[in-house]
Amino acid sequence: MLLDNISTIYKRISHAAMRAGRDPSEVELIAVTKTVPAERIKEAIDLGIRLIGENRVQEAKEKIELLRSKIPETVQWHMIGHLQKNKVRPAVMLFDMIQSVDSLELANRINRIAAEFGKVQRVLVQVKLAEEETKYGIKERELEPLLSEMMNMENLLIEGLMTIPPYLEEPEKVRPYFRRLRELKERMKERGFNLKHLSMGMSGDYEVAVEEGATMVRVGTAIFGRRIYR
Ligand SMILES: *Cc1c(COP(=O)(O)O)cnc(C)c1O
Repeated sequence: MLLDNISTIYKRISHAAMRAGRDPSEVELIAVTKTVPAERIKEAIDLGIRLIGENRVQEAKEKIELLRSKIPETVQWHMIGHLQKNKVRPAVMLFDMIQSVDSLELANRINRIAAEFGKVQRVLVQVKLAEEETKYGIKERELEPLLSEMMNMENLLIEGLMTIPPYLEEPEKVRPYFRRLRELKERMKERGFNLKHLSMGMSGDYEVAVEEGATMVRVGTAIFGRRIYR
Protein backbone atom coordinates (compact mmCIF):
# COMPACT_ATOMS: atom_id res chain seq x y z
CA MET A 1 0.00 0.00 0.00
CA LEU A 2 2.51 2.55 1.21
CA LEU A 3 4.97 1.35 -1.39
CA ASP A 4 2.37 1.61 -4.17
CA ASN A 5 1.39 5.09 -3.08
CA ILE A 6 4.95 6.35 -2.90
CA SER A 7 5.94 4.80 -6.27
CA THR A 8 2.88 6.29 -7.93
CA ILE A 9 3.70 9.73 -6.58
CA TYR A 10 7.32 9.57 -7.74
CA LYS A 11 6.15 8.47 -11.17
CA ARG A 12 3.64 11.30 -11.39
CA ILE A 13 6.21 13.84 -10.24
CA SER A 14 8.59 12.62 -12.95
CA HIS A 15 5.98 12.82 -15.65
CA ALA A 16 4.86 16.27 -14.57
CA ALA A 17 8.47 17.48 -14.51
CA MET A 18 9.10 16.09 -17.98
CA ARG A 19 5.94 17.69 -19.34
CA ALA A 20 7.34 21.00 -18.18
CA GLY A 21 10.80 20.28 -19.60
CA ARG A 22 12.25 19.99 -16.11
CA ASP A 23 14.65 17.49 -14.61
CA PRO A 24 12.61 15.28 -12.23
CA SER A 25 15.54 15.17 -9.81
CA GLU A 26 14.93 18.86 -9.06
CA VAL A 27 11.77 17.90 -7.21
CA GLU A 28 11.82 16.59 -3.66
CA LEU A 29 8.94 14.74 -2.06
CA ILE A 30 8.14 15.74 1.51
CA ALA A 31 6.00 13.16 3.27
CA VAL A 32 3.59 15.06 5.49
CA THR A 33 3.07 13.03 8.63
CA LYS A 34 0.79 15.04 10.89
CA THR A 35 -1.45 12.58 12.80
CA VAL A 36 0.56 9.66 11.36
CA PRO A 37 2.04 7.43 14.10
CA ALA A 38 5.79 6.96 14.39
CA GLU A 39 5.73 3.30 13.29
CA ARG A 40 4.09 4.23 10.05
CA ILE A 41 6.57 7.04 9.45
CA LYS A 42 9.32 4.48 9.99
CA GLU A 43 7.78 2.27 7.28
CA ALA A 44 7.86 5.17 4.84
CA ILE A 45 11.48 5.88 5.73
CA ASP A 46 12.33 2.22 5.19
CA LEU A 47 10.84 2.61 1.72
CA GLY A 48 13.19 5.49 0.96
CA ILE A 49 11.41 8.62 2.17
CA ARG A 50 13.99 11.09 3.53
CA LEU A 51 12.04 14.35 4.00
CA ILE A 52 9.32 14.51 6.63
CA GLY A 53 6.94 17.43 7.13
CA GLU A 54 5.22 18.09 10.44
CA ASN A 55 2.84 20.89 11.45
CA ARG A 56 3.15 20.96 15.19
CA VAL A 57 6.28 21.18 17.28
CA GLN A 58 5.12 18.99 20.16
CA GLU A 59 3.84 16.22 17.91
CA ALA A 60 7.06 16.27 15.89
CA LYS A 61 9.19 16.21 19.04
CA GLU A 62 7.52 13.06 20.31
CA LYS A 63 7.98 11.25 17.01
CA ILE A 64 11.54 12.43 16.46
CA GLU A 65 12.51 11.21 19.92
CA LEU A 66 10.89 7.84 19.27
CA LEU A 67 12.52 7.42 15.88
CA ARG A 68 15.90 9.09 16.24
CA SER A 69 17.94 5.96 16.95
CA LYS A 70 16.05 3.86 14.39
CA ILE A 71 16.35 5.92 11.21
CA PRO A 72 19.23 7.08 9.00
CA GLU A 73 20.83 10.41 9.83
CA THR A 74 19.99 11.61 6.33
CA VAL A 75 16.32 11.90 7.26
CA GLN A 76 15.30 15.56 7.46
CA TRP A 77 12.42 17.04 9.43
CA HIS A 78 10.69 20.10 8.04
CA MET A 79 8.36 22.37 10.00
CA ILE A 80 5.51 23.24 7.64
CA GLY A 81 2.88 24.56 10.06
CA HIS A 82 2.53 27.98 11.67
CA LEU A 83 5.24 28.44 14.27
CA GLN A 84 4.22 30.15 17.49
CA LYS A 85 6.75 32.47 19.04
CA ASN A 86 7.00 30.40 22.21
CA LYS A 87 7.84 27.25 20.23
CA VAL A 88 10.83 28.64 18.37
CA ARG A 89 13.43 27.19 20.71
CA PRO A 90 12.36 23.56 20.37
CA ALA A 91 11.68 24.10 16.66
CA VAL A 92 15.24 25.24 16.03
CA MET A 93 16.48 22.26 18.02
CA LEU A 94 14.36 19.78 16.10
CA PHE A 95 13.95 20.89 12.51
CA ASP A 96 16.36 20.86 9.59
CA MET A 97 14.19 23.41 7.85
CA ILE A 98 11.45 25.80 8.97
CA GLN A 99 9.21 26.44 5.96
CA SER A 100 6.76 28.74 7.70
CA VAL A 101 8.58 32.02 8.41
CA ASP A 102 5.75 34.53 8.19
CA SER A 103 6.93 37.65 10.02
CA LEU A 104 10.01 39.71 10.73
CA GLU A 105 9.56 39.08 14.42
CA LEU A 106 9.60 35.31 13.90
CA ALA A 107 12.64 35.53 11.61
CA ASN A 108 14.47 37.57 14.25
CA ARG A 109 13.65 35.12 16.98
CA ILE A 110 14.71 32.09 14.93
CA ASN A 111 17.96 33.86 14.07
CA ARG A 112 18.69 34.73 17.70
CA ILE A 113 18.00 31.24 19.00
CA ALA A 114 19.90 29.58 16.15
CA ALA A 115 22.87 31.78 17.09
CA GLU A 116 22.65 30.52 20.68
CA PHE A 117 22.85 26.96 19.39
CA GLY A 118 25.61 27.76 16.91
CA LYS A 119 23.30 26.63 14.13
CA VAL A 120 22.51 28.07 10.73
CA GLN A 121 18.79 27.46 10.38
CA ARG A 122 17.53 26.72 6.89
CA VAL A 123 14.23 28.53 6.27
CA LEU A 124 11.59 29.29 3.67
CA VAL A 125 9.36 32.34 3.73
CA GLN A 126 5.66 31.54 3.64
CA VAL A 127 3.71 33.75 1.24
CA LYS A 128 -0.05 34.12 1.27
CA LEU A 129 -1.28 34.72 -2.26
CA ALA A 130 -4.99 35.09 -1.56
CA GLU A 131 -6.94 37.13 0.95
CA GLU A 132 -7.86 34.48 3.46
CA GLU A 133 -8.43 35.11 7.14
CA THR A 134 -7.57 31.57 8.04
CA LYS A 135 -4.09 31.23 6.58
CA TYR A 136 -0.70 32.44 7.64
CA GLY A 137 1.92 33.95 5.41
CA ILE A 138 3.17 37.37 4.38
CA LYS A 139 1.65 39.35 1.53
CA GLU A 140 3.45 39.52 -1.80
CA ARG A 141 4.39 43.15 -1.39
CA GLU A 142 5.92 42.48 2.01
CA LEU A 143 8.31 39.89 0.63
CA GLU A 144 11.12 42.05 -0.64
CA PRO A 145 11.42 44.18 2.51
CA LEU A 146 11.34 41.04 4.66
CA LEU A 147 14.02 39.31 2.57
CA SER A 148 16.18 42.43 2.79
CA GLU A 149 16.04 42.27 6.58
CA MET A 150 16.54 38.53 6.69
CA MET A 151 19.62 38.69 4.47
CA ASN A 152 21.40 40.39 7.36
CA MET A 153 20.57 37.64 9.83
CA GLU A 154 23.70 35.55 10.03
CA ASN A 155 22.12 32.43 11.43
CA LEU A 156 19.43 32.10 8.78
CA LEU A 157 19.89 30.46 5.40
CA ILE A 158 17.01 31.63 3.22
CA GLU A 159 16.37 28.84 0.74
CA GLY A 160 13.11 29.87 -0.89
CA LEU A 161 9.37 30.36 -0.70
CA MET A 162 6.45 28.27 0.49
CA THR A 163 2.75 28.72 -0.10
CA ILE A 164 -0.54 27.10 0.81
CA PRO A 165 -3.05 28.21 -1.84
CA PRO A 166 -6.79 28.36 -1.21
CA TYR A 167 -8.39 24.94 -1.19
CA LEU A 168 -10.04 24.27 -4.54
CA GLU A 169 -11.40 20.94 -5.79
CA GLU A 170 -9.96 21.38 -9.24
CA PRO A 171 -6.17 21.31 -9.41
CA GLU A 172 -6.23 23.45 -12.55
CA LYS A 173 -7.86 26.23 -10.56
CA VAL A 174 -4.86 26.27 -8.23
CA ARG A 175 -2.38 26.65 -11.08
CA PRO A 176 -2.46 30.47 -11.11
CA TYR A 177 -1.29 30.53 -7.49
CA PHE A 178 1.62 28.22 -8.18
CA ARG A 179 2.53 30.29 -11.20
CA ARG A 180 2.45 33.45 -9.12
CA LEU A 181 4.81 32.03 -6.55
CA ARG A 182 7.25 31.08 -9.32
CA GLU A 183 6.99 34.55 -10.83
CA LEU A 184 7.61 36.03 -7.40
CA LYS A 185 10.75 33.95 -7.08
CA GLU A 186 11.91 35.14 -10.51
CA ARG A 187 11.20 38.75 -9.59
CA MET A 188 13.19 38.37 -6.39
CA LYS A 189 16.07 36.97 -8.42
CA GLU A 190 16.14 40.15 -10.48
CA ARG A 191 16.39 42.07 -7.22
CA GLY A 192 19.37 40.02 -6.12
CA PHE A 193 17.74 37.39 -3.92
CA ASN A 194 18.63 33.99 -5.19
CA LEU A 195 15.98 31.59 -3.93
CA LYS A 196 16.42 27.93 -4.63
CA HIS A 197 13.22 26.33 -3.47
CA LEU A 198 9.52 26.62 -4.17
CA SER A 199 7.59 24.49 -1.69
CA MET A 200 4.11 24.12 -3.15
CA GLY A 201 1.61 21.41 -4.07
CA MET A 202 -0.20 18.89 -1.87
CA SER A 203 -1.99 15.58 -2.50
CA GLY A 204 -4.63 17.03 -4.81
CA ASP A 205 -2.47 19.28 -6.91
CA TYR A 206 1.22 18.38 -6.68
CA GLU A 207 1.47 17.54 -10.38
CA VAL A 208 0.27 20.99 -11.35
CA ALA A 209 2.70 22.47 -8.83
CA VAL A 210 5.58 20.55 -10.41
CA GLU A 211 4.55 21.75 -13.86
CA GLU A 212 4.73 25.29 -12.47
CA GLY A 213 8.15 24.91 -10.92
CA ALA A 214 7.80 23.34 -7.45
CA THR A 215 11.06 21.95 -6.06
CA MET A 216 9.36 20.55 -2.97
CA VAL A 217 5.90 19.04 -2.88
CA ARG A 218 4.26 18.34 0.49
CA VAL A 219 2.14 15.22 0.28
CA GLY A 220 0.26 13.59 3.14
CA THR A 221 -3.05 11.95 2.27
CA ALA A 222 -1.87 10.49 -1.04
CA ILE A 223 0.85 8.60 0.85
CA PHE A 224 -0.74 7.67 4.17
CA GLY A 225 -4.46 7.81 3.44
CA ARG A 226 -7.02 10.00 5.15
CA ARG A 227 -5.91 11.54 8.40
CA ILE A 228 -7.59 10.53 11.62
CA TYR A 229 -7.60 13.43 14.06
CA ARG A 230 -7.84 12.58 17.74
C1 LIG B 1 -1.36 18.75 5.81
C2 LIG B 1 -0.49 19.60 4.96
C3 LIG B 1 -0.04 19.15 3.71
C4 LIG B 1 -0.44 17.83 3.10
O1 LIG B 1 -1.77 17.82 2.74
P1 LIG B 1 -2.40 16.57 1.94
O2 LIG B 1 -3.56 17.13 1.26
O3 LIG B 1 -2.74 15.56 2.96
O4 LIG B 1 -1.36 16.09 1.01
C5 LIG B 1 0.82 19.98 3.01
N1 LIG B 1 1.21 21.17 3.49
C6 LIG B 1 0.80 21.63 4.68
C7 LIG B 1 1.28 22.94 5.17
C8 LIG B 1 -0.06 20.86 5.45
O5 LIG B 1 -0.48 21.32 6.62
